[in-house]
Parts: sequence; structure tokens; C-alpha cells
Amino acid sequence: MNKVHNVGIIGGGVSGVVVALQLAELGIDNLLLEQKGNVVNGPPFCHLHAGGNLYPDISDEQCRILMKESIKMARLFPQSIDERPTFISVPKTEDYLVDHIEDRLDMLVDYYKKLIEEDASNAILGDPEDYYKIYSEKDLDALAKLPTVKRPATPDEWMTNAAKLIDYNQLKMPVLLVQEYGWNMFRLGAQAQLAIEKADTCTFKLNTKVEQVIDVRNQGLGYNWEIHTNHETYRVNYLVNASGFRTGKFDESLELDVHCLIEFKAAYVSKWQPIEGLIPELIFHGERGTPHGMAQLTPYREDYYQIHGMTEQITLFKSGLVESIDGAQPIFNEEINQKLDYGWNKDEIKTRTEASIDYIAQFVPSFKTATLGGPPMYGAQQIPGSDVNLRVGEVSFPTQFYARSEIIKASSALTVANQIIDKMQQEKVVSSLLEKINNNSFLDSVSKDEIDKLASEFTDVRGYPKALSRLVIERE
Ligand SMILES: Cc1cc2nc3c(=O)[nH]c(=O)nc-3n(C[C@H](O)[C@H](O)[C@H](O)COP(=O)(O)OP(=O)(O)OC[C@H]3O[C@@H](n4cnc5c(N)ncnc54)[C@H](O)[C@@H]3O)c2cc1C
Repeated sequence: MNKVHNVGIIGGGVSGVVVALQLAELGIDNLLLEQKGNVVNGPPFCHLHAGGNLYPDISDEQCRILMKESIKMARLFPQSIDERPTFISVPKTEDYLVDHIEDRLDMLVDYYKKLIEEDASNAILGDPEDYYKIYSEKDLDALAKLPTVKRPATPDEWMTNAAKLIDYNQLKMPVLLVQEYGWNMFRLGAQAQLAIEKADTCTFKLNTKVEQVIDVRNQGLGYNWEIHTNHETYRVNYLVNASGFRTGKFDESLELDVHCLIEFKAAYVSKWQPIEGLIPELIFHGERGTPHGMAQLTPYREDYYQIHGMTEQITLFKSGLVESIDGAQPIFNEEINQKLDYGWNKDEIKTRTEASIDYIAQFVPSFKTATLGGPPMYGAQQIPGSDVNLRVGEVSFPTQFYARSEIIKASSALTVANQIIDKMQQEKVVSSLLEKINNNSFLDSVSKDEIDKLASEFTDVRGYPKALSRLVIERE
């Protein structure tokens, strides 16, 4: 058997890679095991959620946590952040109050100012006074008459382009433009993988599936866990279970009492040429899971647009949400497992993508001309406990020398990594006098060209258009 590693991490999703990189920065030896051929290949993400403005129902506290955690992650992975704003609206048919949304935005502006006072480098969302802007119907009428702006720079320029396309007679007034940015998972994955490859203290194994974990904590062997994979067996002192919606599988085999939900969801890729200018992300709020759930249009490069519709015909699925019953691991039905393991059939891709296009066309009539642009972006995520509306999940430590990552949004990954390191210090697996010399030396050493190249390869091997690996607002 090979050497004893200080930490073993199961899963190279956003959570696993950030744990590995944080440990590497501290010089802590770790082993990262990912079953697929590249990292961050699980459920997609495309929004940073810096403020939680896509969720009118969540608590102010969750909004603040999302803002704080998103800013931390954006500082780690700047090359994956797409600095285009988000248009937020409430259709006249919905109960949500625009006043309530505005109050929450004011709270977030104050909170953002506080974060900048604590550390000026947190100002990644621009000037707090420009975090959001309100537009009346009269404003929209005036902006819609102005010429299209090819590369908008100000909120009014973004809104000029949006106002030409949206049927705003259907919307409650006012509407808002918020500095909620996009987040590119291909670029984040590429930067993380390249950084991990440079980290001497990280032993990184792709195409390595963990089949079983054996608890040897009481056997006096000088290590605590044996990790059996399809290739070999590894020995580690501390175990981080970051296997995403499959975390329950290992909890169960270790007889840990854990309860969670898992949810399968999908977004669709379309191609559309609206006008000769960029548009913001478009959000039309609606109650999740009803036939009029939120409609969401996310711009990508080269006229690709991603669509979410929070209904069962589009993003959500009948039986797509399941909870732990007899054991820790919830189990999807056969149809969903087929999609996760073998992909989708072409007819369903076409039907669901077309339904998603029609859904957006309710509010953006010219979107009717959009066509299928690629396979859906889909996957399953976990939600700790039993509250489906929870948007901030972090980490639990159900037994000694074991951490279970429970992130719901990708933005929680750094918080979780730091909580795990704190716990490891408490449990004396690593020294309590750890000091980082340079916070992000491995990530910072990866160049934009390297990220461009690997992110493009990631889209290719996963069957998506290469344009999805680029930012709408390119960065230096
Ligand atoms: C449709 C959709 C849209 C979303 N949009 C957003 C968004 O806009 N913004 C946002 O922040 N979040 C979004 N999310 C949530 C986000 O995708 C997840 O929170 C995040 O990806 C979870 O990361 P993770 O590392 O915990 O898990 P995962 O990404 O699932 O990573 C787990 C990893 O473990 C590996 N693994 C599993 N079992 C084993 C094993 N036995 N051996 C070895 N490796 C194993 C997997 O291959 C995978 O790489 C979205 C989710 C969905 C489904």
C-alpha cells in the first residue's frame, strides 16, 4: 500500500477542488480523487448569486451570506466571473411585491458597503451606489427609443438593449437592474485543475472512483480511513466527503445518521440573434414549481443563451426531488438515473429545449426564433436537512476525522474549506499554527491563456459549444 496522506478528498467538484487548493496553500499533504476525467463536471452553475436576488423568498440572512461568500469566491477565481448585470422583474400575474425586493436591495447595499469597509478588495461588484438601479415604465419607453449599444457599459446602456426586446407591459413596475454577475463553471474548473496540477502537496487522481471507505480509527494502524478505489487503496488520517449528491452513499456505509434532499434539475442551451448588442441576464420572477415558476435567460458568448424555467416541464422534474428515507442516500427513479449516468435522448432534449424557448418568449416575443444550441446543462445537487428552499448549505462533521461538504450554491465552497481546516486543527490532524504565506499562489499562477485553452477543451469533451467556455465580458 502507498503512503499515508493527511487528508483524502472524495470528489473533484467545486467543493473538493477548493478544499484541495486551500490545504495545498497551507502545505498540507492531501489526496484528491475524482471519478471522471476532469474536475467541476457535476451539476452546472452560471450565477454567482452575490445577494441572492434570484430568490425573492429567502431570508435576508441567506442573501447576506450569499453576497459575502460569492465575493470571496470571485476573488479566488476572477477569470470565471462574467461582469454583466441582471434585469429583475415581477410579472403582473405574480404576488411578489417589487417594494419588498427594493427594501432587500437597500439592505444589501448597506451590507456590501460594510464588506468593502472591512476589506477594499471586496469591491468586486462595483460602487455600492450602483449595485442596483430602478426603472419606471416611462424610463423604459425612453430607453427603448435610443440606438442599440453594442458593448453596454452603464446600467442605462444595458437597459436600452433589454427594453427593446422585453414586453414590459406584462410586468409590474418598476423593474430593476442589479449587479448580479454570471459565473462560468468551465473556466473555474480549468483554473482549479491547472492550479492543483502545480501543487506539490496535492496528489491528484482523475478517473478514480471511490468504491468503499473503511473506518479503521480504532485499530491503531497510524491512520484512520482506508479508501478503496477502482485502481488502488489509499490510507488517510482525515476524510472529506465532497461527492456532491452522492455523499449519502459513504455516510450510509459508515452507518452515519444523516438526512438530506437531492434534486435533479436542467437548464437548456439555445442560439438566438436578437440585436447587435449585448443584453443583461433576464429574470421574470414566479413561484417555483408552479406552471408559472421563474423564467431566466442567461447570455453567453456568440449568441448562445441558457434558459431556466422553474416548472416541471422545463428545469424541474416530476420526482426530481427526493429525500433520505431508509438510509442516508436518497435514491432517484430509473429515468433520472439514466440521464445522470448515460445522458438524454435526443427527442427529450428537443422537446424540453423548445418548451423552454416558448416559456421565455412569453416575455421576450422575438425569442420565439431561438433554436436548439446544444445539450442541456444538468445534474443533481444536495440540500442538507429537509427544507427545499434552503440556499446556503455548508458542512457537517457527523463523526471524528470526517467532514461532509453540503454546499447548495458553489459560492459556499471556500467557507466550507476553511471550516474543514479549522476542524482539522481542533482535532489535531494538522498543526494549529498554520499560516498562509501567499493566499492563492497556485490559482494566481495560472494564466488567462491557460484557462482559455483548458476551458475550451472542457466544453469540447462534454459536448457543448466552445463559446460556452468564454465570458461575455472578456477580462484581461
Ligand atoms: C441546473 C442547476 C443549476 C445550478 N445553478 C447554479 C448557479 O447558477 N450557481 C450556483 O452557485 N450553484 C448552482 N447550482 C448548484 C451547484 O451546481 C452545486 O452547488 C455545486 O456544483 C455542488 O458542488 P459539489 O462540489 O458539492 O458537488 P459536485 O459538483 O456534484 O461534485 C462532486 C464530485 O464528486 C465526484 N464523485 C462522486 N462520487 C464519486 C466517487 N465515488 N468517487 C470519486 N468521485 C466521485 C463527482 O464526479 C463530482 O465531480 C446549480 C445546480 C443545478 C442542478
